[in-house]
Amino acid sequence: MNFIHSMDNPILHTSIEYLKGVGPKRADVLRSDLNIYRFRDLLTHFPFRYIDRSTTILIKNISEDYSSVQLLVKISSIKEIGQPRKKRLLVSAFDESGSIQLVWFKGIKWIKSFIKVGEQYVVFGKPNQYGGKINLNHPEIELAEKNKNKIGTLQPVYHSTEKLSSFGLHSKGIENLMRTLLAQVSNVIPPTLSKYIEQKNNFPSLRNAYANIHFPEDQKILQKSIFRLKYEELFFLQLGMTRQKISTQKRSKGYLFENVGKLFNNFFSDYLPFELTNAQKRVIKEIRKDLGSGSHMNRLLQGDVGSGKTLVAVLTILLSLDNGFQACLMAPTEILANQHFKTIESFLKPLGIHISLLTGSVKKSDRRVIHESLENGSLDILVGTHALLEDKVKFKNLGLAIIDEQHRFGVAQRAQLWKKNILPPHVLVMTATPIPRTLAMTFYGDLEVSVIDELPPGRKPINTIHRFDSSRLKVFQFIEDEIKKGHQVYIVYPLIEESEKLDYKDLMDGYESIVRRFPLPEFKVSIVHGKMKPEAKDYEMSQFVSGKTQIMVATTVIEVGVDVPNASLMIIESSEKFGLSQLHQLRGRVGRGADKSYCILMSGYKLSNEAKIRLETMVRTNDGFEISEQDLKIRGPGDVMGTQQSGVLDFKLANLAKDGQLVQLAKIDVDELLKRDGDLSSSQNQSIKIELARQMKLKPNWSNIS
Ligand code: ADP
Ligand code: MG
Repeated sequence: MNFIHSMDNPILHTSIEYLKGVGPKRADVLRSDLNIYRFRDLLTHFPFRYIDRSTTILIKNISEDYSSVQLLVKISSIKEIGQPRKKRLLVSAFDESGSIQLVWFKGIKWIKSFIKVGEQYVVFGKPNQYGGKINLNHPEIELAEKNKNKIGTLQPVYHSTEKLSSFGLHSKGIENLMRTLLAQVSNVIPPTLSKYIEQKNNFPSLRNAYANIHFPEDQKILQKSIFRLKYEELFFLQLGMTRQKISTQKRSKGYLFENVGKLFNNFFSDYLPFELTNAQKRVIKEIRKDLGSGSHMNRLLQGDVGSGKTLVAVLTILLSLDNGFQACLMAPTEILANQHFKTIESFLKPLGIHISLLTGSVKKSDRRVIHESLENGSLDILVGTHALLEDKVKFKNLGLAIIDEQHRFGVAQRAQLWKKNILPPHVLVMTATPIPRTLAMTFYGDLEVSVIDELPPGRKPINTIHRFDSSRLKVFQFIEDEIKKGHQVYIVYPLIEESEKLDYKDLMDGYESIVRRFPLPEFKVSIVHGKMKPEAKDYEMSQFVSGKTQIMVATTVIEVGVDVPNASLMIIESSEKFGLSQLHQLRGRVGRGADKSYCILMSGYKLSNEAKIRLETMVRTNDGFEISEQDLKIRGPGDVMGTQQSGVLDFKLANLAKDGQLVQLAKIDVDELLKRDGDLSSSQNQSIKIELARQMKLKPNWSNIS
């Protein structure tokens, strides 16, 4: 209970065991079931809903359509029926409009001990049909009298567990503890925000916010209290991240790329295949500013599928070479590394730049050549997979590392890249699909973010259609029509995993029926899946890329990066099995050329609600940012990011999918605070400084997020 050690007020840091009404046994269960160790943990065990005691419904108006109802009733009879182990407690209740039966199968003794005929109760429960009548099973029940004595009409409901309930700590029991706790601690809760921030945002005091989130005086103050406490979660996370970012920038000097030299200018004037979009130009400017600043660049490049991130990467690479540094680009799969290698090579060959590809399947002898030329500096650019990270791969002078498809690489891997030169090379991270803004702001708080929010001109939106498996014949006809127009077609099946024999069978069955329907010599079909050898994959891919085959049957191995502008139709089989960002990524394989493109989502009739939402979202919009927001709503931040660090985003109250505006508000306040008082030394910001330190201590993994 040492203040310096805990960084918390000693009373709030008290072990929960010592709260009146807890004791060692209950403390054990509070710890194991709810992670409540200390007074503060209980204080922040917030209600998950509130019962509005002021709104009751008449019994005659109850129907099964209500998910829950609240009644003000009197009890007319209490009856226990059934055999010993199968007992039921039937309680008849009535109000002025009618009567209803309340039923209990468990805890009968306890209920019986406290309800009495003739007394008035508030009953809360879910109506259900039984034998042609509506009744309530296991409703919450409470004396109406007692209820009246409470301040306000909103009663908190707390998460509890069966085990806690058996120790008397059902929601009601926790509520009682909370009353004891609040009486004891509300005077000692240390301030968190500065006065001026509270005033600016019109927040209730912290003490008020805690009192009202547990025992609201009314709806209005409840909402304000929740708002404030949510804000604090977002404020302190972003404050921690932003301060870290600033200190990293200050700390880590980076190589100075002063020149925009011959290569960049040459390429720009003579070899640029098309006019850059305004968004590409803006992003290049942002990158150039970083590179010319003398600090280490740590930038995230966000852009929708097909927005032209590769070209931005190429231009950034040229800046590196122009300043006498090498560059590397790392991709998550061999196919993608290959594709990048070919694209970049075709862009840069005419400039006499040396570029190599390093993946797991590069032969030993070739590897040696690559290693040597990297070390003696004759190799300018290395493209590859995580094979780049190996210690054997040493650069003469690496100045820039570009990482494609961020969330497949971990933090540790990025750190390995930093070690490849004396100062860390500049890092540009490119995402495969957009990340929701709120996530980018919070999760990647320590990365600068550039956004390409514009597609190259002439792109027509891809027409997306959902079809059930029963329309397959029509879909086949459509495939034929597209091929007759000279176009190419992808047909994608769910991923083949070692254990998923079914997927493999589906793919092979599908492939056979395609080949039967589209026979040689008129039609040629390629196939690529995860069980093939890399050479075989490459061969099949190249057949399709060069237009020798018209149909590519594949698993999601083609998900990212593949670029065949002549492909105009994407068919996704069992599309209900795919996640949103995967579907969007797959769809992005078409619509890259001048012709109208289509995406057909095939599925069975049986669809889960989530699958329905996913497919509807895909049909409705082509906008990757909108899709990522939807994805966040469905899956939550942890799953969207797919990383182990998502624990940092486990807020008690805030919800990144819903609280975007609040994220923004907190961000503005954080930025303003740091502009005025970067090291938090002013006396008015001391409470912020102390609270931040307390939270950082709790979440040491903050430092790993980048
Ligand atoms: P992504 O952002 O998904 O990686 P790519 O870099 O693969 O997108 O670009 C998609 C396609 O758009 C490529 O065929 C590329 O050559 C083309 N492209 C990129 N920038 C432009 C531009 N400014 N104008 C026209 N086409 C472009
Ligand atoms: Mg790409």
